[in-house]
Amino acid sequence: MEVKNQVSLAEFNSFGLSVNAPLFLEVTSSLALQKVLKDPRFKNALILGGGSNVLLLQNLSRPVIKISIPGIRVVEENEQSAIVSAGAGVVWHDLVMWCIANNLGGIENLSLIPGLVGAAPIQNIGAYGVELKDVFHNAIGIGRKTGDSKIFEAEDCEFGYRDSIFKNELKDKYVITTLRLSLIKSNHKLNLEYGGISQTLDEMGVVAPTLDDVARAVIRIRRKKLPDPSKLGNAGSFFKNPIVLKSKAAKIIKDFPNMPAFTIDENFTKIPAGWLIEKAGFKGKVFGNVGMHKNQALVLVNYGAATGAELWEHAQRVMGAVLSKFDVELEPEVNLIN
Ligand SMILES: Cc1cc2nc3c(=O)[nH]c(=O)nc-3n(C[C@H](O)[C@H](O)[C@H](O)COP(=O)(O)OP(=O)(O)OC[C@H]3O[C@@H](n4cnc5c(N)ncnc54)[C@H](O)[C@@H]3O)c2cc1C
Repeated sequence: MEVKNQVSLAEFNSFGLSVNAPLFLEVTSSLALQKVLKDPRFKNALILGGGSNVLLLQNLSRPVIKISIPGIRVVEENEQSAIVSAGAGVVWHDLVMWCIANNLGGIENLSLIPGLVGAAPIQNIGAYGVELKDVFHNAIGIGRKTGDSKIFEAEDCEFGYRDSIFKNELKDKYVITTLRLSLIKSNHKLNLEYGGISQTLDEMGVVAPTLDDVARAVIRIRRKKLPDPSKLGNAGSFFKNPIVLKSKAAKIIKDFPNMPAFTIDENFTKIPAGWLIEKAGFKGKVFGNVGMHKNQALVLVNYGAATGAELWEHAQRVMGAVLSKFDVELEPEVNLIN
């Protein structure tokens, strides 16, 4: 394990922000991680996966531990299903592709989500009608204070919309080292209802879709809609879609009858944050080095030379405008790192 000094994190965050970390260490095994967590120099370290859900606001005063624990394997199976175990450092999309190659269904709709496996439970990643929680078996985490390892079952994780116990009560308390998913081996139940998957399959001329076809459709849609972070710095959706009281949604619909809205339950409605941002006038509008993307207003973009502070300032500008126009508070989905 080589501890490096003053490392630029430009390559390690999808906004492409070139802030420095005073110390940087890449760990490739749970044992190595346990060892480094005992090292007082790394006490308050930032745990970094692929850096695709963080906004680094300035040069860090704390070290970085980059998680690179490899490995994918089936650990248990029966006729219908299999438990797949993956190291926290595996690239999420590589895991999806591995599962599809092995005819294991359940995460094909989560194709092309950037980042690593270890971060997937942190915000319960989701896309196209599927969330991690739908296939989650359990996860192993190492306690940052004790160095002990603990198995988290689904009910321990308090999964919610882009949320889990690891963003709340257990924030910065555990490092995930292994994720285990429960996947289906045959008679796959494909989830085609969401976000134009069926239509895209039609365009592709697919009549009887396989797991691979669904993944290819999702990849096609995502490539059309979302900017590629290697070309244009971004962290995907910057804000969560707000969930508001039905009465508030009804008030907005009075003025904007075409507002898209999704019923959560008898009391609450989810409104697409991208729609609110667009109606507040920010879609595609550039402010110096930053702006909300022209195809997807929910994506905050670094046009090249932005700082973390500039990006955050713009995010706050957008939040302020949405609040004053709609009386709706936007909450960042991306983790702000000081
Ligand atoms: C273009 C684009 C599209 C995206 N689309 C989606 C989408 O469709 N759905 C979706 O849900 N997300 C999406 N995201 C967000 C992002 O891909 C996910 O949040 C992903 O899980 C982040 O993984 P990461 O390894 O990059 O995490 P990082 O950014 O490295 O870390 C995120 C947070 O998790 C913590 N963390 C990381 N690894 C661990 C670990 N092993 N143990 C404990 N804590 C850890 C970090 O400290 C940080 O707080 C998108 C991002 C981009 C750039």
